[in-house]
Amino acid sequence: MDHDVAIIGAGIAGLAASVLLRNAGLRVVCLDSLPYPHSKVGESLDWSSPGLLRRVGIDPDALLADGIATFKKKIVVCELGKEEWRAAPPPVIRRSPLRFETVTLHVDRAALDARLYEHARALGAEFIWERVTDVRTVNDRVTGYSTAAGRRVEARWYLDASGTARVLSRAMGIPTVAYGRQRVCLWTYFDTPPLHDGTAFFVENRDEYLSWVWDIPISPARTSVGFVVAAEVVREHRRAGHSLETILREELSRHERFRDLLAAKPVLEIESTSFQPYVADKVCGDNWFMIGEAASMPDPLTGNGVTSGIRHARHATDAILVAHGRDTISATRARTYTQHVVRLGHSFNAHIENTLYRHPIRWGLGLQAATYIYTFFAFFMNALHARFDPRGRVGMRVFSLLFLGARGWIAGWTLVARTALWYRGRLHSEG
Ligand SMILES: Cc1cc2nc3c(=O)[nH]c(=O)nc-3n(C[C@H](O)[C@H](O)[C@H](O)COP(=O)(O)OP(=O)(O)OC[C@H]3O[C@@H](n4cnc5c(N)ncnc54)[C@H](O)[C@@H]3O)c2cc1C
Repeated sequence: MDHDVAIIGAGIAGLAASVLLRNAGLRVVCLDSLPYPHSKVGESLDWSSPGLLRRVGIDPDALLADGIATFKKKIVVCELGKEEWRAAPPPVIRRSPLRFETVTLHVDRAALDARLYEHARALGAEFIWERVTDVRTVNDRVTGYSTAAGRRVEARWYLDASGTARVLSRAMGIPTVAYGRQRVCLWTYFDTPPLHDGTAFFVENRDEYLSWVWDIPISPARTSVGFVVAAEVVREHRRAGHSLETILREELSRHERFRDLLAAKPVLEIESTSFQPYVADKVCGDNWFMIGEAASMPDPLTGNGVTSGIRHARHATDAILVAHGRDTISATRARTYTQHVVRLGHSFNAHIENTLYRHPIRWGLGLQAATYIYTFFAFFMNALHARFDPRGRVGMRVFSLLFLGARGWIAGWTLVARTALWYRGRLHSEG
């Protein structure tokens, strides 16, 4: 066998795994249908990403110095018809004993991924630009991949980092748990300096199911702007004969920020995708792991995609290294990996769905309160993960309790919000 590990997909998860495995001296082959550079979305990183990027050999300061990243120090929410407001991590948590990161990055994803690819290649990872068309399995073991060009690839370990293509899941018939409605995202880029040293969101708290616009400065001179909306709304527009450009222009022109930018750009180059966040029912087996979006797709609003890809890669790599030459993952390791991936995926997706996408908390307590309720959970959970890096049995147990507490936090606020809505409804009907 020529390789220790064969990876499908050279996105952020597959590249991070290639780097970590090569650092440990394993022979790695990574297959992707598309050669570099890849065009990628996923540009606003959560607060734990600087440390994770360093672990895979990427220096966040160099990204900033080279003009392919900008600082993200806060989020700014521009709610139509209201004063804009901000949320930033309190500086006190930077100090001991917490020592949380309070500044993170926006990145030009094509440039970041290309840098990680060059690093993996320099370390000796092998890349094959062919699509994997077949996964051979025997019971719970993967025995090989075949590509569209007829190549057969065999290894001791197999990673699926194929993103939403979910190559292994499909080959093994593994179902997923989906969250919320099917959504469509339309995005474009404007050559303009950053509006803020943070990600800006443009929202109107009117939709029963949230739609939102992002403004992410991916470099000092370029800003990514995207619109996320329920797929049924886009379908209605399409039935009325509207093009994707009309839909995006119409939405952006509602906000002062974009009017001059739109006027200066008569034709928009638009990229689009549709998605529905999910978590796979099973994420590892005898000699295989799913990492990144192949295992779990966090909603884009969580800003968790890049960090979970790198985290999954670290945990899967650890499990492979701990196997010490055996080619089967131990039951304990399988349980720990599953717990790590599945609870992060389920909790972030369920909580963003309940606090922001669905209307009760937003309408009952207001968009600002809903945002604080979600970001309090998300920021601290990410920061605690980054700081304490739970991987042993005790750490995993402590985090299980924290996740349970987070469920209580969201459920409690949902109850308060529903009561507020009910009370207002009663006043209204009495009035
Ligand atoms: C609209 C939107 C906005 C987002 N915004 C953010 C954000 O602000 N912050 C954030 O952190 N995350 C964000 N994300 C999520 C983030 O982009 C993803 O989580 C992350 O890029 C996924 O990385 P990955 O490596 O798992 O998968 P991918 O990057 O999708 O990589 C998978 C790779 O597998 C390859 N592949 C697929 N099938 C095959 C096959 N059969 N054979 C060979 N190769 C194959 C593909 O070509 C691809 O290169 C967003 C996602 C969306 C949809």
